[in-house]
Amino acid sequence: MSLLNGRFAVVTGAASPRGLGKAMAELFVEHGATVAILDLDQGAAESAAADLGEGHLGLACDVTDKAACLAAVDYLRGKWGRLDVLVNNAGITQPLKTMDISPENYDAVLDVNLRGTLYMSQAVIPLMREQKHGSIVNLSSVSAQRGGGIFGGPHYSAAKAGILGLTKAMARELAPDNVRVNAICPGFIATDITAGKLTQEMSNAIVDGIPMGRPGQASDVAGCALFLASELSAYCTGTELDVNGGSLIH
Ligand code: NAD
Repeated sequence: MSLLNGRFAVVTGAASPRGLGKAMAELFVEHGATVAILDLDQGAAESAAADLGEGHLGLACDVTDKAACLAAVDYLRGKWGRLDVLVNNAGITQPLKTMDISPENYDAVLDVNLRGTLYMSQAVIPLMREQKHGSIVNLSSVSAQRGGGIFGGPHYSAAKAGILGLTKAMARELAPDNVRVNAICPGFIATDITAGKLTQEMSNAIVDGIPMGRPGQASDVAGCALFLASELSAYCTGTELDVNGGSLIH
């Protein structure tokens, strides 16, 4: 089934080889989409795009820089003429306790996760409104819903909870123009976001709390992103889609 035939999609933070963004980009391509990978490093973005096959693009874009977001979308508009899907996937986390969060920690985590989601959305919304068609998919987290307790600290939970608020308010505002906005709330997924700071002990404790008894795979999240990006979810907006192996059932 080709769920995204003729569609053009942007996935931020998709250069990480084992990351959720790369898995989403690959699945979107399998379903007929043309994809642009945006990430901090131009070379890494280009090489990830090359892995997707011919015709896909890799661009450097720091999502905390509004001018960079606008420039990337301007470039894609010139190349493609339209843009159907934005996945706001770029994100960072830090395993800190409340009293250890410095101003710099707060800024870094809030800026990439929350500010970046707003800036990239602001960059694509005018074109999606003109087309009267678009799907924005935002990466929140189970940490937003259950008060952390996975890996990221309270500032990460706050940023991801902020993404849920932003998702729902943008969904309400953009619905009349047929631009849908939804969030995915992954649980514990095996990627490199933990940057070597996840011990075996921490991992075992987390898996103990997952009814399905295993960490999620990037492909588990990619399937949810494909659903929200495609017309299968045509009447879904403002939703939060849990992909957590049962670690939060509510
Ligand atoms: P990852 O670390 O593998 O990939 C994140 C990517 O974002 C990297 O390629 C990085 O270079 C990029 N990035 C960081 N700052 C950026 C910026 N300012 N501009 C552009 N790109 C930037 O992480 P992942 O595990 O694939 O996570 C993807 C998303 O899913 C994140 O938003 C994360 O918070 C969320 N999430 C992950 C999990 C998990 O368990 N892995 C759980 C819940 C939510």
